[in-house]
Amino acid sequence: MATVAFIGLGNMGGPMAKNLVGAGHSVTVFDLVPEAWADLESAGASVADSAAASVTGVDYVITMLPAGKHVRATYLGENNDGLLSLLDGSTTVLDCSTIDAETARDVGLAAKAMGIGFMDSPVSGGVAAAAAGTLAFMCGGDAETFEQARLILADMGKNIFHAGPAGAGQVAKGCNNMLLAIHMIGTSEALEMGARHGLDPAVLSEIMLASSGRNWSLEVYNPYPGVMETAPASNGYKPGFMVDLMVKDLGLAMAIAAGAGFDNPMGQLARDLYDEHQKDGNGARDFSSILEKLQAE
Ligand code: NAD
Repeated sequence: MATVAFIGLGNMGGPMAKNLVGAGHSVTVFDLVPEAWADLESAGASVADSAAASVTGVDYVITMLPAGKHVRATYLGENNDGLLSLLDGSTTVLDCSTIDAETARDVGLAAKAMGIGFMDSPVSGGVAAAAAGTLAFMCGGDAETFEQARLILADMGKNIFHAGPAGAGQVAKGCNNMLLAIHMIGTSEALEMGARHGLDPAVLSEIMLASSGRNWSLEVYNPYPGVMETAPASNGYKPGFMVDLMVKDLGLAMAIAAGAGFDNPMGQLARDLYDEHQKDGNGARDFSSILEKLQAE
């Protein structure tokens, strides 16, 4: 069993850290918000009073933070006095946050220069998958670090991929979530078009599921209310995966495209539609509520 420092105990980090405790690891946690500590403490984790205090002598440091600026500040600090300066090659560092690929590369390169194994390891799967330990991890870093990372990520997820070098995990995540936005909008558009011609969305869904329009949004997350009992659409678009998070991820995907000088017209259109949907006051609703935006057009 390993010793682990887990930093960032929000909607995702909390249940992920709990799964590590449940798997028998010795886990020390930290979050800026003390209210987040109690749950982990009662699950059996130790609580540190700072990020720096949590990492002493651990095998792994894992972070699950909101954005790139938090990750950069945590690891690099103001003048390279962040967590990396407290570690050596005996610790493997995994950042599971969804952040810009540039920050992931910068932190990865800084760690490498110090002889520390770092891997950007963003996840696919929301809060339910974090709690169930069924997340998918997309990792960017060297092969040796990936082998170390796998040993601990396996206790929080079921699919663990090595996408390539530092930053590649974030690029993979950006590609996936851009595609998710596109097929959710496309699925909503097709269902609404059929419904306006009097087709039953449930029957149309069945037809497309057995045809070449089949995709994840249609298969497990149908955006039309009443078609799939367990989907957010049938529960008032309660998230699920919030529009706010989709807007964040599409912004990251746009930066990934721009970083390669790549024009991504479908991704840009998806970003624009989700931006408008967010501005219309839907940020805290499930991202499949984009159907309602199309219905209002
Ligand atoms: P959250 O806002 O619920 O949690 C973030 C936590 O980090 C908070 O508890 C906050 O207090 C803490 N924090 C912020 N800065 C800190 C610092 N410097 N040191 C210590 N703690 C700090 O967010 P979340 O939903 O758990 O998401 C975390 C990451 O996972 C994000 O990058 C998000 O994009 C990604 N993600 C979220 C989901 C989802 O469905 N929620 C799915 C996939 C990926």
